[in-house]
Amino acid sequence: MQDAAPFQRVVLRRGRERRVLGGHPWIFAGDLSAPAPPESAGQTVEVVDHRGRFVGLAMCNPASNLTLRVLSRQRVAVGRPLVAARLGAALELRRRLLGAEQPDGLRLVNAESDGLPALVVDRYGEFLVVQSLALAADRLLPDLIAELAEQVGPRGIFERSDAPVRALEGLAARAGPLWGEEPPPLVEIREGAARFLVDLRGGQKTGFFLDQRPNRQRLGALCAGRRVLNAFCYSGGFSIPAAVGGATEVIGVEISGAALELAERNAELCGVAERCAWVEANAFDHLRDLDRIKERFGVVVLDPPAFTKTRESIPGAVRGYKEINLRALKILEPGGLLVSSTCSHHVDPQLFLEILAEAAADAGRTLRMVDLTGPGPDHPSLPAAPETRYLKCFWGVVN
Ligand code: SAH
Repeated sequence: MQDAAPFQRVVLRRGRERRVLGGHPWIFAGDLSAPAPPESAGQTVEVVDHRGRFVGLAMCNPASNLTLRVLSRQRVAVGRPLVAARLGAALELRRRLLGAEQPDGLRLVNAESDGLPALVVDRYGEFLVVQSLALAADRLLPDLIAELAEQVGPRGIFERSDAPVRALEGLAARAGPLWGEEPPPLVEIREGAARFLVDLRGGQKTGFFLDQRPNRQRLGALCAGRRVLNAFCYSGGFSIPAAVGGATEVIGVEISGAALELAERNAELCGVAERCAWVEANAFDHLRDLDRIKERFGVVVLDPPAFTKTRESIPGAVRGYKEINLRALKILEPGGLLVSSTCSHHVDPQLFLEILAEAAADAGRTLRMVDLTGPGPDHPSLPAAPETRYLKCFWGVVN
């Protein structure tokens, strides 16, 4: 879709261009000298500073507090060639950093961080899942689909634009087949020695938490001969590699029964069902119960959902993270490994380490950090935009 030039102009308040010039892709309603005109809804607009100097081109939604998403800092033509170039660069980045043997569960396009704001493309074997999270992104979708068909050549493309954040853009949820063959109910992917069935039509996110792939594989190599507790386990993401890697027993705790049904099937698929147990429970309660009956583990994995999505709820989220980590530390045997994640961008690395330090102090244990990792190279982030660097995974040993 080619936006007709000249573009509508949107003027920033004095000084508000600085963040954009520094590389941040988001401009909020409060940064604008006047509200964006209604006819710019879903269009590309020209952003200028208070003196009228060109700042960039951005996708616009006047109905959203996140009104502008920067597409380019240059005056470029916005249309299929731009989408083609951005997709090409995203694919090249993955080829370059992940090599020829690319995993079959892989994020091909990571929205703003790949220059395609509010657009996500995940590959599950021969099928692609796309997700559009903004009004103007919906308009780029036909070009993106055409380019994916050409540059990737999948068997089918399925849409999962059903994330709740679409409501902030005034958009309804949408899901369904978009191009080519409809995917089967479950698609199998391989991650190292583990295999997973993915429900890309109805599973959480686009079906699987692809951002944790390197951490799951790393865990698999650290569990031989250990008893493992995997809290917030979804469809067995960390449990399966732990069991395949030789854990004596892996207990997965998860609140969603549907996720656990898939987890059981994944364990069977990988031939580790007899060493995997699944508990449908609130992880907070279950970890406390395990401590009460003096159960102990050599490895505890925590991968909770984002407890906070807003600045206002940070204090409550901090308490939640501290509480769950405290409970994990209590059930770890001396020398045990804690693998603890947060996917909330409001909890930055420093705050996360403070939370872990406090949890260790309260538990009366010494916690030694060995690493703090993030997602793989298929989830690039922008140094100028902390929001794009949400996943932190702490690796530590407790005495
Ligand atoms: N580690 C997983 C992804 C976990 S996502 C993987 O690698 O695939 C977080 C999971 O926590 C979701 O499946 C969600 O259903 C579950 N969850 C949310 N709140 C919970 C709670 N209080 N207790 C247990 N599970 C919870």
